[in-house]
Amino acid sequence: MSRRVAIVTGASSGIGEQTALALKKEGYEVYAVARRLDRMQGLADQGVHVFAMDVTDDASMTAGIARVMEERGRIDVLVNNAGYGSYGALEDVPIDEARRQFEVNVFGLARLIQLVTPHMRAAKQGRIINVSSIGGKFYEPMGSWYHATKFAVEGLSDSLRIELRPHGIDVVIIEPGPIRTEWNQTSRDNLVATSRDGAYAEQAETVRRVLESGDSRRRSSPPEVVARKIVKAAVSSSPRARYPVGKGAGTLMTARKLLPDVAFDALVRRVYS
Ligand code: NDP
Repeated sequence: MSRRVAIVTGASSGIGEQTALALKKEGYEVYAVARRLDRMQGLADQGVHVFAMDVTDDASMTAGIARVMEERGRIDVLVNNAGYGSYGALEDVPIDEARRQFEVNVFGLARLIQLVTPHMRAAKQGRIINVSSIGGKFYEPMGSWYHATKFAVEGLSDSLRIELRPHGIDVVIIEPGPIRTEWNQTSRDNLVATSRDGAYAEQAETVRRVLESGDSRRRSSPPEVVARKIVKAAVSSSPRARYPVGKGAGTLMTARKLLPDVAFDALVRRVYS
């Protein structure tokens, strides 16, 4: 039988890169995709198939999935990992940037699911692993668009889990806590560029500092930790609906579950003041 095939988006750095390597080690035929092809040379050197894909470009996604089917004839696992943090006061974020945030974090993910499910349904098996965040359950000031996308990924994945079950396709949500990747710096840069001046300048500086402190070794985990969890979700005979992963993720999710809004708001306000 041919080897199981996995596709990993956002594989040019961080969680996606480590996940591509970990799945390769697990024995999968791995396709790693992102916009920056040059940043995936290291993966290619280790036997991972790499090609460019922009998850905001329909033609690029359609051609990518067709290519994998042509070369391998099967897709067993899709890891929807590409994403970034569009931070800034909601009032300051241009609505086109908010749309772009949804294009990358939600519509790209959903479009790829549309493209792989016909093949998974035909095979009566498959696994879709969506990288959400603890930010799909908790919230921060200046992060409304990012959190809106991750809350959307949670709702979409929960509905889809029930919808695809009769077709033999599992849907799994990964909820990382703070992970040391390029994500944090990108989010901080977006925040500063958007709300550095004006009515929200002081709040923006506070949130920037909190984000930065979350990037420290003491508070965050390396991306390999998430990659291991994704492999577990890929190979488990009965995967869980969601896997919180990384320092503090489990505790925070439990607190969000147990605390009423007023108490959780107070907690968030305390951290971000
Ligand atoms: P990185 O910034 O290191 O990686 C993000 C990846 O997404 C890159 O490979 C980038 O590739 C890709 N990407 C961004 N835009 C696009 C696009 N339009 N088309 C295709 N690929 C794109 O961050 P992480 O590894 O940390 O992030 C991976 C996922 O994990 C994201 O969904 C993020 O929200 C989530 N997450 C991260 C946490 C963290 O603390 N780091 C915590 C919780 C969740 P390229 O630019 O080459 O296209």
